[in-house]
Amino acid sequence: MHILDLKSDTVTLPTEEMLRFVKDAKMGDDAYGEDPVTNELEGYCASLFGKEAALFTSSGTMSNQLAIHAQTTPGEEVILDRYHHINYFEGIQAVRFAGVILNPVKTKKGILTYEEVNNAIEDKPRSSVYSRPSLVCIENTVSYYGGFIFPYESIKSLYIQSKERGLNVHIDGARIANACVKTGISFKEYAQYGDTVSMCFSKGLGAPFGSILVGTKQVIDKARKYRKWHGGQLHQSGHMAAAALYAIKNNVSRITDDHANASLLASLLVKNPVLKINKNEVYTNIVMINIEDCRTTSEEFIFETKQQGLELFPWDKKRVRAIIHVGISKKDIYLAAEILQKVTTSC
Ligand SMILES: *Cc1c(COP(=O)(O)O)cnc(C)c1O
Repeated sequence: MHILDLKSDTVTLPTEEMLRFVKDAKMGDDAYGEDPVTNELEGYCASLFGKEAALFTSSGTMSNQLAIHAQTTPGEEVILDRYHHINYFEGIQAVRFAGVILNPVKTKKGILTYEEVNNAIEDKPRSSVYSRPSLVCIENTVSYYGGFIFPYESIKSLYIQSKERGLNVHIDGARIANACVKTGISFKEYAQYGDTVSMCFSKGLGAPFGSILVGTKQVIDKARKYRKWHGGQLHQSGHMAAAALYAIKNNVSRITDDHANASLLASLLVKNPVLKINKNEVYTNIVMINIEDCRTTSEEFIFETKQQGLELFPWDKKRVRAIIHVGISKKDIYLAAEILQKVTTSC
């Protein structure tokens, strides 16, 4: 049976054309700075984001962790939203590798404000013997809230006020391309309000591997050193860099199709009495499906849909997630909706 895989946008496979581009890539050893396509990719991304430098890494997690490591010293504090990926999934890494304390804040829809940052700072003793807050992290789009776009003006004011307080800001932009396509705000415009930005090639952009971290030359040089420490230095990275370069050059504007397909899936399910889909809560390429009215848990629910040929992700106990990506056509969306209708008649 053909499985429709909507559990993540990381599941995409390279297209023929991407593979041709990969096959033609000249390679060298990136440990010596001699891999031409990796150098081209890093240069391309630095200028795309309007930053001095960029570093190609193996994953979004690694880019985030290098950003934290390069902009803090052990014992310092990172302030962020409780549900942002860096706290929700990467708490261990930040503690183990950068040796920092995460100070997570509960916010409205993941929109961390300076007021909340300030409260988190003022809430603890801050004389020199205590931990010093040094970094603020935010996320765009916000995965926990179904691909919600962190409002541009909110990023801007958070950044300006955080800098006045001497705090750096890292933007976890794993899906920032989705935000750019949806809002028409450029990578550069977003990135001016972050000291560092990370972005995944392996999500909506459809490459099989990798992430980028952009920032000042000084921070990226440090990140390069820590990437080596973590065993993440790459050698002949040209094939991976070529797929990423192809993705960032060719696959950005096509993301509108994913957004249209996510909206289509939601509208096909609006009338489903069990799922209670709110079309207004589909912001980009993610559809969060609430199964509170089902007797089943998310795990049981996705087991049922998989039996019917549809893979989803069990986000929490009563929410399952569908993500639309380059491998999903409009026809697939109709099929996915049909499977969901079928499964919910008996859930
Ligand atoms: C996927 C994701 C990451 C991590 O990326 P990996 O490549 O899976 O390590 C980080 N942040 C956000 C917001 C993500 O969605």
